[in-house]
Amino acid sequence: MAQEDVFKKLVSHCKEYGFVFPSSEIYDGLGAVYDYGQNGVELKNNIKQYWWQSMVLLHENIVGIDSAIFMHPTIWKASGHVDAFNDPLIDNRDSKKRYRADVLIEDQIAKYDEKINKEVAKAAKRFGDSFDEAKYRATSPRVLEEQQKRDALHERYSKAMNANDLTELRQIILDEGIVCPISGTRNWTDVRQFNLMFATEMGSTADGAMKVYLRPETAQGIFVNYLNVQKTGRMKIPFGIAQIGKAFRNEIVARQFIFRMREFEQMEMQFFVRPGTELEWFKKWKETRLKWHEALGFGDDMYRYHDHEKLAHYANAATDIEFNMPFGFKEVEGIHSRTNFDLSQHEKYSGKSIKYFDPELNESYTPFVIETSIGVDRMFLSVLCGSYKEEVLENGETRVVLKLPAALAPVKLAVLPLIKKDGLPEKAREIMDDLKFHFNCQYDEKDSIGKRYRRQDAIGTPYCVTIDHQTLEDNTVTLRNRDTMEQSRVSIDELNGIIADKVSITSLLKTLQ
Ligand code: ATP
Repeated sequence: MAQEDVFKKLVSHCKEYGFVFPSSEIYDGLGAVYDYGQNGVELKNNIKQYWWQSMVLLHENIVGIDSAIFMHPTIWKASGHVDAFNDPLIDNRDSKKRYRADVLIEDQIAKYDEKINKEVAKAAKRFGDSFDEAKYRATSPRVLEEQQKRDALHERYSKAMNANDLTELRQIILDEGIVCPISGTRNWTDVRQFNLMFATEMGSTADGAMKVYLRPETAQGIFVNYLNVQKTGRMKIPFGIAQIGKAFRNEIVARQFIFRMREFEQMEMQFFVRPGTELEWFKKWKETRLKWHEALGFGDDMYRYHDHEKLAHYANAATDIEFNMPFGFKEVEGIHSRTNFDLSQHEKYSGKSIKYFDPELNESYTPFVIETSIGVDRMFLSVLCGSYKEEVLENGETRVVLKLPAALAPVKLAVLPLIKKDGLPEKAREIMDDLKFHFNCQYDEKDSIGKRYRRQDAIGTPYCVTIDHQTLEDNTVTLRNRDTMEQSRVSIDELNGIIADKVSITSLLKTLQ
């Protein structure tokens, strides 16, 4: 099945099974804003818990905070967001559609890459086992021609972005013959900068209301609390502060479902280190974070690093961890070496000293920072993309199954009485009443057992138990495994022991050590 079709199916699956709904749907929705349903919220909470515990429980020198969404407006001046948190936008006069100029060009670069890869794949098929890919890429005239066009475009684009040259960005779009996907025309406006922060007012207008912003990242809440946490927690460098919370960006082009939203959630950790040691820590956090992703078991080849060529003015190293989504490898997490830029800026704008006295060195300095920043929603999307499977069974039927890591699954165990009478529901309730204290269980007595298994497969429930007449005689149930579909007869008394460990976040965390 084409990857595009898989993605479409996944989006409708999310709605049909209570994972993600378009926001305000009965009013026809609100662009790039989504709500999480009964299963989505459980999966999301499990992802957050996995992250939080891997940071705060597993590291003695990382603590958490929960800062407010509203912050003093000067914070966003100091951080550079008021002046520079912009995207270059361009409109098509015919379709009246708005695009990000940088995204239009990056898509064009991706098209060249696609062409080259297709060419290579065709040759691989033609030559079979004797195919030498590196040699083919280095010698095929057709590949070389496309590669040269691609590299020239990439260089021109990087230069224009670094110089903030909006006229040049427009010229690239014209020279490359990029058309609007809706109107198919090249009738483009000028490129303009557009600030992504949402603003609102605090206080009544009679008092002279103050313009405040909805935070576009959670990190600044950590920076402005650095002194509070360091002092009250008696934290010694190196140490980290973690936070999970909502962030808001008025994204120009909202695409790909929950990949790019206007309201989303971030999990960020700022790690404060001694100046000069930051690149060592950067390397360490790159590895630690990749391991966290890989522990979920989707396959190590589903992830890759993408080192940034264009660094933000305050950064001295940056990389993304990308996941192989149905629409290509895409950023899920960013790891940035942010130097001492943010703390120094807050020192300057607030007039307060934000220095750390290092007793070992016997000197004071402004700490350097390594940031790990991951979007909960993008992580959620990557988990769903990695889990969604359509399988053809031996009897020719297909089943849709979410092979979620058990620790993240919304429901861990479904409790199913075979029929709705003869005391089976009562027995099933007894099992529920015992196990619900240990993990999330769901009771279901409606429809045939086969249909009920399918419903649980569709939401990724790793285990189902069926209660039948034999249960009343010998206190055993049938335990079904989601992935293998194997069934075994086990005693009710053993259920907790068999399941609890396999579905717990603790077990997942132990694989990280
Ligand atoms: P992009 O280049 O895709 O716009 P970014 O580099 O601006 O992302 P960061 O500012 O580094 O993203 O934010 C850190 C993380 O927050 C990202 O890796 C992503 O997971 C998440 N994130 C950022 N913007 C959005 C958004 N609009 N919707 C959902 N998640 C987002």
